[in-house]
Amino acid sequence: MEETLHSDAEEFRRLAIENTILQDRIVQLESLLNHDPNTGLPIRRILERQLAELFQEALTSGEKIGFGILRLDRHYARIRHTRDKMKVFLYMTALRVQEIIGKNLFQSDRSDEFLMIIRNVEDESHLERIAEDIEGAVRRPHDPPAKDVTFGCHIGLALYPEHAQTVTEVMINAEIALGVYEQRREHRYIYTPEMGKIYHESLDIENELYQAIQRGLEGFHIVYQPIFDNDGKLILCEALMRWDSAKFGSIPPSRFIPIAEESGRIIVLGRWIMYNACRTLKEWHDQTGKRFGMTVNVSPIQIQSPDFVEGVFEMLDSLELSGEYLNIELTEGTVMEDPRDTIQKLNQLRERGIKILIDDFGTGYSSLTYLGSLPLDVLKIAKPFIDDFLVNDSNREIIHTIIAMSHNFNFTTVAEGVERQEQFEGLKQVGCSLYQGFLFSPPLDAVEFEDHLLK
Ligand code: C2E
Ligand code: CA
Repeated sequence: MEETLHSDAEEFRRLAIENTILQDRIVQLESLLNHDPNTGLPIRRILERQLAELFQEALTSGEKIGFGILRLDRHYARIRHTRDKMKVFLYMTALRVQEIIGKNLFQSDRSDEFLMIIRNVEDESHLERIAEDIEGAVRRPHDPPAKDVTFGCHIGLALYPEHAQTVTEVMINAEIALGVYEQRREHRYIYTPEMGKIYHESLDIENELYQAIQRGLEGFHIVYQPIFDNDGKLILCEALMRWDSAKFGSIPPSRFIPIAEESGRIIVLGRWIMYNACRTLKEWHDQTGKRFGMTVNVSPIQIQSPDFVEGVFEMLDSLELSGEYLNIELTEGTVMEDPRDTIQKLNQLRERGIKILIDDFGTGYSSLTYLGSLPLDVLKIAKPFIDDFLVNDSNREIIHTIIAMSHNFNFTTVAEGVERQEQFEGLKQVGCSLYQGFLFSPPLDAVEFEDHLLK
């Protein structure tokens, strides 16, 4: 009897010990699952739970709570592959932020991103000051191991209850603010309702764009704006995209092109406009015997796609149109994004007689000397320079220089956005070659173009 009792107690103790070990293991495992292995910070899931609790409490306490996303800038990518360096750097950065906001720092799903809860915020300007402190702390130079690089960051912040009432909402809004400021390279932080409105509108437009493409580019059409020489002879016309959306009505290209670029849909749209504009040009050539060129805008991601050149050549072949009648317009930024690949493609295009235009010249990087070494044919001087060409001495000087240097490099110059006769006269005097603008004609649909310019 006594023996049985003894062995029961033994068994009980053994089970108890096993249970404790199991409990410890569970705690360890939970801790592992809930913390980031690099920084040791709690992860996003934990933050979401805490934030939900804090928002609940704030309903009675009235506390204002900030939520922020801190994303390290691109310098971080340089050390990302050196694992040890990266670990130390992330750890140090986390410590610096914790000095300002306490333990409320979490690791995001991305290794270059932290999430922050900022307690007891007085108002937006208080939150802004905290963000400035955080950014300043992150920016402070590091001792080894990263003394050779100064790291920066962007921060997006949203405030409860001002900007959002739920955890999901506050997170989305901070993300929107981060995206906007990162893109504008601005060191500002706080979400505004205006940003949210534009963001949600863009999502709607993107969705509508997808639907319209699925329905065979429903609502898309092309308008053509003529470009003349000094004697009024039609030399080129620019194809410009128009979209009358079923849901939103007419949406200007300045609104939908960036969205199409971001979502990659510009590739389909770009192919469509180039083919159709060239087909129309071919018909005009055949019907009228007049010979002039077509110029088409090309976005960076179009030219960067591997089969761009091939696609253009196939299109020309299928229409039996000579390359000498096709021009493509790129911005300076497009060329600079991936100069080696782009220059190679431009050379191939030029071998078939296609001419390369630089659009909006003067608004980008603008190194005329560098441009001189590139395979280009035409510079389009940006409208802002043309606008106050006659009254603004420095703009007149700029246009003078552009035209003089263009002659040197054998570039043709086009003045875009010419609206007044005096501008035209002045530009003629300084040696500009071609002109486009409302003074001569707005963009016209194909039938109007035929009626006004080809008959
Ligand atoms: P952009 O290439 O600089 O095109 C010139 C813009 O200036 C056109 O606006 C044109 O209608 C307008 N414009 C022409 N003359 C005048 C003038 O005398 N005064 C004023 N105020 N404006 C004038 P649009 O058609 O709204 O196009 C805006 C931008 O959208 C274009 O700027 C271009 O960057 C982009 N875009 C249009 N179509 C396409 C396309 O098929 N593909 C790509 N990638 N971008 C396009
Ligand atoms: Ca253009």
